[in-house]
Amino acid sequence: MNCDRKGIIRAVLNRAESADEELKPFTTDCFGGDVFHFTRMKERLPKPIYKKLMDTVAEGQPLDASIADAVAHAMKEWALERGATHFTHWFQPLTGATAEKHDSFLEPVGNGQAIMSFSGKNLIVSEPDASSFPSGGIRSTFEARGYTAWDPTSPAFIKRGRNGATLCIPTAFCAYAGEALDKKTPLLRSMQALNRSVKRLMKCFGYDGSANAKIALGAEQEYFLIDEQFYYARPDLVQTGRTLFGAPPPKHQQLEDHYFGAIQNRILAFMTDVDSTLWRLGIPAKTRHNEVAPAQFELAPVFEELNLAVDHNMIIMEVLKQTAEKHGLVCLLHEKPFAGINGSGKHNNWSPIYGDINLLNPGSDPDQNAIFLTTLCSIIMAVDKHSDLLRSATASAGNDHRLGANEAPPAILSIFIGEQLADIIDQIEKGSLKSSKHAGSMRIGVDTLPALPRDTTDRNRTSPFAFTNNKFEFRAPGSSQSCAGCNIILNTIVAEAMDDIAALLEKVPKANFHSGLQAILQKVIKSHKRIIFNGDNYSEAWKKEAAKRGLPNLRTTPEAMAALIKPENIALFKKYGVFSEVEVRSRHEIFLEEYQRKIRIEGELSLNMARTIILPIGSKQLSELVKTIAVMSGCEIKAGLASQKAAAETIGKLLDGIELECRSLEKALAAKDASAKIVESMANLRKLVDTLEKRVDDDLWTLPKYREMLFIN
Ligand code: ADP
Ligand code: MG
Repeated sequence: MNCDRKGIIRAVLNRAESADEELKPFTTDCFGGDVFHFTRMKERLPKPIYKKLMDTVAEGQPLDASIADAVAHAMKEWALERGATHFTHWFQPLTGATAEKHDSFLEPVGNGQAIMSFSGKNLIVSEPDASSFPSGGIRSTFEARGYTAWDPTSPAFIKRGRNGATLCIPTAFCAYAGEALDKKTPLLRSMQALNRSVKRLMKCFGYDGSANAKIALGAEQEYFLIDEQFYYARPDLVQTGRTLFGAPPPKHQQLEDHYFGAIQNRILAFMTDVDSTLWRLGIPAKTRHNEVAPAQFELAPVFEELNLAVDHNMIIMEVLKQTAEKHGLVCLLHEKPFAGINGSGKHNNWSPIYGDINLLNPGSDPDQNAIFLTTLCSIIMAVDKHSDLLRSATASAGNDHRLGANEAPPAILSIFIGEQLADIIDQIEKGSLKSSKHAGSMRIGVDTLPALPRDTTDRNRTSPFAFTNNKFEFRAPGSSQSCAGCNIILNTIVAEAMDDIAALLEKVPKANFHSGLQAILQKVIKSHKRIIFNGDNYSEAWKKEAAKRGLPNLRTTPEAMAALIKPENIALFKKYGVFSEVEVRSRHEIFLEEYQRKIRIEGELSLNMARTIILPIGSKQLSELVKTIAVMSGCEIKAGLASQKAAAETIGKLLDGIELECRSLEKALAAKDASAKIVESMANLRKLVDTLEKRVDDDLWTLPKYREMLFIN
């Protein structure tokens, strides 16, 4: 590795403008070119088979095995035309990443010949050797092997490498006894649960319940990009995805000159490449911009049906990383790669839709508004009752640095609904829906439910869970997390709340429907309004206020994870068929273990870097100073001697401090279950090292500095 930091900077600057292959101009018919989507299936499948397949997809019916061969054949022919040689069941195990094991279509048929083959069975199930995926004890209690099963609601796609292509078939991953070993299975279950509740609720409003509820998700993705030469010179970035040391530079994001700024050429070339790859994969990447922190960016696609959007977000993260590599950059998806500046999140924009009605769309139609307000109140109830569960879905070693820090939504969950809606909620609570502050936009609708302002323009960037026009935006999830986790929880808790409200509404006589509804909503608001907060979520005052309201503030992952296995929550998951008790407990165990392992890795690397990189640099500095002092002490010139001595004293003390903290860290690492101690000790060590960085001769410091990694490319 190149230890010459200045050399690395020169190399980054001299990097030959990456010989960007000319991108072929993108035409709209390229969109989805690498996806075996429904239109393509329709073109290529016999009508009856296509119809059966669509029934499966639209109605959530089990897949008819008799059509699998025909679908597999059409899929293979298409994939071969697109240059694919292999196929894989693509799935989302509990490791955080996606998994794939490739099989070639090639099938020897004797006499030195081969055909390209792909059967219905190949399409429907596969048995990856799953023994190394985390299962939290499920496989030891039940069955040693797991299997992946095709999810026909998410179309197959082709993933391209430098000189080949692979057909990827989105699948769910389960143990043989049926326990989910992945993130997709419970997501699909939670969508079914919410679908049932939405239908039940809509029946109360006079709908026949024949339409299916869909859930829309638009996931905004934040990320950092740095030059790969800096990355490879930082063992902490390579091993943990974040800088364990590094003093924030004098100028970072204070001037707010990066956010929405003009996008640099090199970055724009990268983004263009990303967009074109995503479009070919049928992923509707829409917006791209500079984010608040230097070297931080965001990509947002247009919202899609939840299951597909979750898969697409997983692909987006992969494409970001691979494309960065092609451009000599590294994409950091860690929630907090750099201390002292903004971290990265994933804004989860969510809305339930019945038929073509977005249940979160307020408007001027009084009937629609009754549905809107009921949905809103269901969500208020759900989030208040289960804010601990929602918080648990965002917990991770990386996100701990973000939640609770000053720029990210805090670990205390609350809901922002804006001033105008707050006013309406207030009136419903008081039972006196008259006029409002915003009389212009208010009309009392049928049976006292008001017409609502369509565009609540007020924006609150500090709330973890904000109503934004016609959707809720959950901002706590971390940039590297799968969207599955938080949506599983969101769907389940809203399913419960809607169910509870529907149960009450079903008892209301038709003639009093609106007054009955109003009384129910009034009660919901009275019991759950403490979760609504429209002020500054970053302020100290809110922390105090939230504590007074009894809202949980679960600061660390282990605290947050505990919610998963509370008896009432296990019962909730069971009731809605989302997780069995075994599944919840296994997840709790897996996530906690992953957290502890990550902390341990960071701790070990901190110790290692402190002893093998930082202390030696400090010693060199000290010995230079001491040499100077010795020489000066024997000569006439005394000016400067005092400052040399003072510098030596400072450096020496820091080195002693670092060595002392190294020993504490070492002790914490030797203990069992000492994550909290390790985290604390790493933070102490970091403070000392970052102070040392600011005192040591710039030429001696071998690790690339923040001011370089974040600003030079
Ligand atoms: P921002 O939050 O940055 O202002 P937008 O409000 O335009 O951005 O949208 C952010 C994301 O929300 C996009 O992915 C967008 O497609 C998605 N979105 C918009 N409307 C809905 C909706 N009804 N349900 C779910 N997601 C939505
Ligand atoms: Mg947003």
